[in-house]
Amino acid sequence: MRSALDIARDVRSGATTAENEMATSLAAIRARNDELNVFLFVDEEGALDAARRVDERVTRGEDVGALAGVPIALKDNLCQSGVPTTAGSKILKGWRPPYSATVVGRLLDAGAVPMGKTNMDEFAMGSSTETSAFGPTRNPLNVERVPGGSSGGSASAVAADMTPLSLGSDTGGSIRQPAALCGLVGVKPTYGLVSRYGLIAFASSLDQIGPFAKNVADAAALLEVIAGHDPMDSTSLPELAPSLLSHVNDGVAGKRVGLVRELFDGAADEVVAEVERAAEALRDAGATIVELSVPEIHLGLSAYYLIAPAEASSNLARYDGVRYGLRVDADDVAAMNEATRTAGFGAEVKRRIMLGTYALSAGYYDAYYGQALKVRTQLIDAFRRAYLEADLLLGATAPTVAFAIGEKTADPMAMYLSDVFTIPTNLAGDAAISVPFGTGEADLPIGVQLLGPGRSEAGLFAAARVLELADGRS
Ligand code: GLN
Repeated sequence: MRSALDIARDVRSGATTAENEMATSLAAIRARNDELNVFLFVDEEGALDAARRVDERVTRGEDVGALAGVPIALKDNLCQSGVPTTAGSKILKGWRPPYSATVVGRLLDAGAVPMGKTNMDEFAMGSSTETSAFGPTRNPLNVERVPGGSSGGSASAVAADMTPLSLGSDTGGSIRQPAALCGLVGVKPTYGLVSRYGLIAFASSLDQIGPFAKNVADAAALLEVIAGHDPMDSTSLPELAPSLLSHVNDGVAGKRVGLVRELFDGAADEVVAEVERAAEALRDAGATIVELSVPEIHLGLSAYYLIAPAEASSNLARYDGVRYGLRVDADDVAAMNEATRTAGFGAEVKRRIMLGTYALSAGYYDAYYGQALKVRTQLIDAFRRAYLEADLLLGATAPTVAFAIGEKTADPMAMYLSDVFTIPTNLAGDAAISVPFGTGEADLPIGVQLLGPGRSEAGLFAAARVLELADGRS
């Protein structure tokens, strides 16, 4: 599939049409969706109509936007008015939101065509897309393996050439880890850079929306479109979207890159080897490599598994069978709430709600939730110190290449460890990007991770572009 930027350029010039590009995308979905279970919903006629409207605007000579006619897949926790949205859960099956997320509006303004909703771990809780109530998604590169998660459907859509772009959400790694496992570029933007209005909340102090793409420039173009202040999200940063695409080829000359031991400790040897090779590539491009240790990174996972479930237990209280979604009738309201939640939520979501409720309960609050917040502050300080010594940090995205379907479902702790390198960024509110670099076992892709302080996206894209070139990609 051609890059999103090539498609947009050709749609604007009239060399192709949005309708034609959408037809190509829909044909690719028809060919493999039954096998891979990527999309939970595609409105073929609606997508073609929306594409034709873009073409009409081109014909009228209007400036259609940076993503003119580009088909884009949305993770199924992003609301689009009138389009079924489940967050991968039975409890929302059949729900059609009466409003659209801010990112959806921005995509439309830029000429992109949102055309379907992708499978995900239930309420974004998971690392493999296996906790979805609608069955697992398979990795298009090897159908016996997981695509990662929780945005596994959005990653697979791009990896299977069904769409050139997609959006996911990243609370603890859910964009970067599936990007790594599917050989894509995936970005967790700075907390507050992208509006979350219309994103179904998981853990509100951590959630961010971000792009998946096949290459760095496409990811930068997409983030530029969706970023920027939104009065509808109280955590939105007050500034306009940063300029990203124009910095993609800035390089890394003179930059200090911190090679952080704790960001690849315990990863498979083949992953460690690629991280080291990435450090060499950055050095060859003029960066200075500084070896760093940030021991607080090891505390990230435990703090996350108190903070994220605590916030989730509160956010998910709204699914009570009263106003929308599933309702299982019973004799009184309390019994109806219980029956609805028992039937509507899957095992992982119930585990998180119980963990979170426990961490917040009277008598345990200080020992668990309060303690986790203190650890979070320590981690934030540790990153701040690291960024005095380095402009950006380098490590692994995931400890291994894509693992087998079913391999970790019986052991939640093993599953949680998939995100040990990605979670610290979310706790710090910083930015990070995963970029494909080399391959490992079974010829599956490996992703390396570049991390930077808040608002450092332009520099991260430039470094990712250096790695993309060094790895012989576009
Ligand atoms: N895998 C992590 C979890 O299960 C992160 C998920 C995410 O980023 N949404 O919580």
